[in-house]
Amino acid sequence: MTKKQVFQFRDAPREMPSRIPLQLRLNGDWGELYGRFAEVEAKKQAGRCLDCGNPYCGWACPLHNYIPQWLELAREGRLHEAASLCHETNPLPEVCGRVCPQDRLCEGSCTLNDGFGAVTIGAVEKYIVDNALADGWRPDLSTVKATGHRVAIVGAGPAGLSCADRLARAGIQAVVFDRYEAIGGLLHFGIPSFKLEKSVMVKRREVLEGMGVQFRLGVEIGRDISLDALTAEFDAVFLGLGSYRYTDGGLPGQDLRNVLPALPFLVQNGRVVQGDGDNLRSAPIAGWEDQLELPDLRGKRVVVLGGGDTGMDCVRSAVRMGAAQVRCVYRRDEANMPGSAREVANAREEGVEFLFNRQPLELLGDGTTVNAVRVAETRLGPPDARGRQRAEAIEGSESVLDADVVIIAFGFQPDPPAWLAQQGIELADNGRIKVLATSGNCATKRKAAVGLPYQTTNPKVFAGGDAVRGADLVVTAAFEGREAAAGIVALLSERAPVAVQNNSPLAKVG
Ligand code: SF4
Repeated sequence: MTKKQVFQFRDAPREMPSRIPLQLRLNGDWGELYGRFAEVEAKKQAGRCLDCGNPYCGWACPLHNYIPQWLELAREGRLHEAASLCHETNPLPEVCGRVCPQDRLCEGSCTLNDGFGAVTIGAVEKYIVDNALADGWRPDLSTVKATGHRVAIVGAGPAGLSCADRLARAGIQAVVFDRYEAIGGLLHFGIPSFKLEKSVMVKRREVLEGMGVQFRLGVEIGRDISLDALTAEFDAVFLGLGSYRYTDGGLPGQDLRNVLPALPFLVQNGRVVQGDGDNLRSAPIAGWEDQLELPDLRGKRVVVLGGGDTGMDCVRSAVRMGAAQVRCVYRRDEANMPGSAREVANAREEGVEFLFNRQPLELLGDGTTVNAVRVAETRLGPPDARGRQRAEAIEGSESVLDADVVIIAFGFQPDPPAWLAQQGIELADNGRIKVLATSGNCATKRKAAVGLPYQTTNPKVFAGGDAVRGADLVVTAAFEGREAAAGIVALLSERAPVAVQNNSPLAKVG
């Protein structure tokens, strides 16, 4: 092991892993854009960490990861120990290393970001966990004692998987139900493969099953089994329902042909890319009533409305699908754009044109199919209720953008199922599931008096992720799943396990 050079950051510049060459991407290569560090590169990049004493990176990470510590273990080549430490706080580290907007989180707060280039925290996190898993490392549960409790988790997205991981580490049997046939939720179906290879979730499923987590996939609560049955048969239930209903913006003309909501567009395209074939271009998508026929984008002019990470996934997908022109319309300026700066830079490199300070007013067409978007230029006015400056349309600034396909990526809202109310689970006015406390030390008396973290108005049911906080990052959903699991552990520590019923309705779902 080489001795740490404190000023290594001066000699070794920040470097990301190599990327798939631009021409291949333009020719439709869907492989993960960033490759993996070789050992020598990973050690060099990890060794750039200053260990500055007050790790702002860890505070900026929603999971409060022990970043300087696992960077040092990686520098020393102690990968298994580094992987164990990564998992102490993060149930999905190889996923977060790939999809977190690090420039807004850990790396944005790195001391070296001020002039020297932040440590490549996400890429080292991915290196540690990918290599440790490939090398046979698995979470060590050898000292965990089974409590006899069983918890049903509804939703195999990041919140649900995170909760399952923590419960398994506490000796609680987690059984995860999901309406899809693969785990991951939007990690599998929504995030394009150039950001997250699908094999990552396959490996994570293997890891979780090795920890004793059980999956019941292709099972929809409310259709195949009721929430009542889950609350009767399990000691507690966690709801990680996600947030799938898209915000359409109510634009005139949004019902025209070739106006597509972002998420079904990404899901349908993901199925085609994963080799399921062109026959899935119009196949039904579980959870969406409206059928979406995925158009052939080759040679088309595509306009994406919205500047968040989903919008970036759409523009970069459209490039790989062969669109002749891809433009992104966003109503605020670049500094106020919610999408990750790294994603914007990648999109620009791939030829995407950004039209900032433009507000869509109307989608125009020939009566059947969209052919243009009418937009107005905007200026930024006073802040709104969330503190973000409002975009105000400038009178007389209207123009028309030609478009063969328009993708609407304005964001998502919770879509709470009716069966929540039957179990006394209350919603907030905005449709999100109400929880009694959001995080912190669930052992404190104050928290216990109010309610446990992420406990809903039904004491046996917990919830977290986008259905509670609104559409947000994978890492924040993982955080909430982790914290909810702590709440469940606290609840069950005072209760005997429920007896398994004879003639259980769960028998029919495996
Ligand atoms: Fe950074 Fe995300 Fe990893 Fe936290 S989980 S260290 S924010 S990449």
